[in-house]
Amino acid sequence: MQLVHDLKLAAMRVLEKAPDSIGSVSSVNTTERIIVPTFDDGPTPTRTEAVLRALADHDATGTFFVLLTSVRANPGLLQEVVAAGHEIGLHGMDHRHLPTLSRDEAGDVIRRGKAELEDALGMPVQWFRPPHGDQSVETWRLIREAGMTSVIWSGTSHDWNPDATQDQRVEKATANLDPGTILLFHDGHAGPADLGDPVPEPALDRYELLDRVLRIAEARGLRAVSLSRALENGTPVMRPHFNLHPRHLASAVRRG
Ligand SMILES: [Zn+2]
Repeated sequence: MQLVHDLKLAAMRVLEKAPDSIGSVSSVNTTERIIVPTFDDGPTPTRTEAVLRALADHDATGTFFVLLTSVRANPGLLQEVVAAGHEIGLHGMDHRHLPTLSRDEAGDVIRRGKAELEDALGMPVQWFRPPHGDQSVETWRLIREAGMTSVIWSGTSHDWNPDATQDQRVEKATANLDPGTILLFHDGHAGPADLGDPVPEPALDRYELLDRVLRIAEARGLRAVSLSRALENGTPVMRPHFNLHPRHLASAVRRG
């Protein structure tokens, strides 16, 4: 087991030296005073509407990584998100951990998810955020082969964490709010119906959380825009992001 462990560590070190070739977008290198809020697992009633209200109140845009399970249940909400000027990326057909699937099955759900979402939108989908942030080199490559780029994050609001208070969420989301930060939020809650883990949904006011974070950002001269808008005057920061060992999956804190 020690040898396997050493080999995996060596592989990680090689990967970390080649971030441009095997990286995922983790933030944006920019001189603009912008941040990129992102929203996973939607669109869903109430939650997505709360997020849309907060973004509108701050004249902000964001990038929504949608689940096809949510899109099928709420097609009108998807169109509302688009009509409000936000960007849509793919989070998946469902919320399974991609590295636990066979190569064929993972490739199939990534490709079919992209095709179904593009049909619903009538436009190409460029970005993919892996469920739970779980990614192997193989699933990273499948995302690339499907014509998308993997996107992770550089800051999180902990809105997935039932143990965090709202004050702690605001504090965590704004602690390292630099220009180009990609911030993780959720406008849905993936559960068994999405083939996700049976984890409890935190009780939180998603409007209030986003409103407070955006107020603090604005006080620092930072405004919120979608990822593609941020990249108009910036370049993606690519970082290797892999969970190579099943142990990482078993112990991973739920996120993404
Ligand atoms: Zn998710």
